[in-house]
Amino acid sequence: MDKILITDNLTVSFDGFRALNQLNFTMNTGELRVVIGPNGAGKTTFLDVITGKVQPTTGKVLFQGRNLRGIPEQEIARLGIGRKFQTPRVYLGLTVRENLDLVCNRFKNVFSTLFRTPSFTDRRMVMGLLETVGLGGKRDLKAALLSHGEKQRLEIGMLVAQSPDLLLVDEPVAGLTDEETENVGALLLALAESHSILVIEHDMEFVRQIARQVTVLHQGTVLCEGTMDEIQGDRRVIEVYLGESEATLATGNNQS
Ligand code: ADP
Ligand code: MG
Repeated sequence: MDKILITDNLTVSFDGFRALNQLNFTMNTGELRVVIGPNGAGKTTFLDVITGKVQPTTGKVLFQGRNLRGIPEQEIARLGIGRKFQTPRVYLGLTVRENLDLVCNRFKNVFSTLFRTPSFTDRRMVMGLLETVGLGGKRDLKAALLSHGEKQRLEIGMLVAQSPDLLLVDEPVAGLTDEETENVGALLLALAESHSILVIEHDMEFVRQIARQVTVLHQGTVLCEGTMDEIQGDRRVIEVYLGESEATLATGNNQS
């Protein structure tokens, strides 16, 4: 099977501390993969190194067979890797539709979106995306008026509008209500029909909703991989997550 992403003995050191440590990871084209792990496991660093925000100290990242070493962030995005950050980055003063127009638009800037009539194809794509993200009824509302979950869905739509080959999604349900969490999960499952998606997540319940194949990261390396049932029955996973909840109880710190 076709591999969209491979990491080969990937290590990222910050002043000698290994945030990623000889990480070997493989993902198939068309797969929806969830990477979980306790705080500090290296999840965000993993996305940073795939997108070119940080460089591998040793080892490599292969995207569609191509070594990404030394390729600037913008260029990696153009090669087909799109990233959705943890906090939504939408234009609050623009409507939902205008936000989507903006990314579908060939002249990706605010002024051309506001002052140029979008082409028929652009318009059809935006309408399709509005349906997909479930915001058709709110298309003329300013993004500032959306709930946090709706903003997350809008931003996922904006990511999809760029037609990346690989979608990277960092903790999409942090801070969402149960209902919003389910909506985001349903959206990711729908997108997985036609996209390769890598989701980084901390919330186990959410992972159960969407996950097929799960990779558990711990201390910068793969602890185990399998279905959610296999993962949850694994002693090592239970230990690292228990260790974390004890630490959380002890410090009262619940930051992710
Ligand atoms: P996660 O997202 O799984 O919580 P991170 O990838 O954010 O984990 O961090 C992994 C480890 O690397 C943490 O111990 C963190 O403190 C450390 N780390 C991350 N980024 C940096 C950096 N820029 N400089 C120094 N240490 C860092
Ligand atoms: Mg993180």
